[in-house]
Amino acid sequence: MTSPVLTSIPLTSLPRLSQGKVRDLFSLPDGEKPTLLFVTSDRISAYDVILKNGVPTKGLILTLLSAKWFEVLSSRVPGLKHHFLHLGPPAASGLTQDEEQMLRGRSMTVRRLKIFPIEAIVRGYVTGSAWAEYEKTQTIHGLPQPAGLKRCERLPQPIYTPSTKAELGDKDINISPDEARGIVGDKYASRLEELALACYNAGAAYAEERGIIIADTKFEFGLDEETDEIYLVDEVLTPDSSRFWSKADYQIGREQDSFDKQVLRNWLTDNGLKGKPDVEMPPEVVEKTKGRYTEVFKLMTGDTLEEALEKAA
Ligand code: ATP
Ligand code: MG
Repeated sequence: MTSPVLTSIPLTSLPRLSQGKVRDLFSLPDGEKPTLLFVTSDRISAYDVILKNGVPTKGLILTLLSAKWFEVLSSRVPGLKHHFLHLGPPAASGLTQDEEQMLRGRSMTVRRLKIFPIEAIVRGYVTGSAWAEYEKTQTIHGLPQPAGLKRCERLPQPIYTPSTKAELGDKDINISPDEARGIVGDKYASRLEELALACYNAGAAYAEERGIIIADTKFEFGLDEETDEIYLVDEVLTPDSSRFWSKADYQIGREQDSFDKQVLRNWLTDNGLKGKPDVEMPPEVVEKTKGRYTEVFKLMTGDTLEEALEKAA
């Protein structure tokens, strides 16, 4: 599919509230509740640094996959509230035709909420920073684990392993559920953990039916301060926020080939570029990364990106 790579979002008809590593947030005219236009660029980050060039269609894949998950999780997690209202901007939002065309498939209207300053990570398997910690101390985010786990082994049950939510340019730090409680407060801590685990369990079961293991993932939650209700926000169960493995290729005791930024991360480490600013990916790294994102999108949703765009139109 050909579509221009967007590493910046040229939208001037709405006030830009913020720019994250991957997304730009715009405020929308006041309605009954505050809303945002949540726009996903084609930017890609690895080791907390944004690459100079982007990955074509990545913003579409992340947006349409998240939209799919909001629908799936709503029906599978009792009592779940989420920020997603609809794809695209609201009618009569004052955008130009060019802007509407540029946003096609990469924006959604969401409720604007107060974000809890933690990343609600859930792990079903021991890998990445959790494996490094386990090897040293037999704990994960300070939680004691059974002896004898192998690399990438499934945990006896999924665990809630939050991290801090760092400002742009800083690194998130793994913390224990107790430390997260200290940050979000007693009133919300248990419910956040319960919701994160329920979303992971529902998502992992859905993915497994489609041949994909969700090894771990990161959720974010927000609060509607008027009603005191917790909402699932941000992107959900995408290859940016999760480690996806092929169930058919899965083997305990070794690293797995994952459907995410692994190609990029490997290239950065192999070339001594890990954590360096202003790095440009060569075309083959871009193409391979795009390929992996596209493949997992089809496996998870059953649709090609073109089909999903048609449905969303
Ligand atoms: P990373 O995802 O790697 O942490 P980032 O934090 O820079 O990167 P982006 O994904 O680029 O984030 O931008 C999304 C931002 O929008 C995040 O700061 C997120 O907390 C915030 N956000 C998500 N949903 C909402 C919402 N409903 N209301 C207000 N802010 C939101
Ligand atoms: Mg984010």
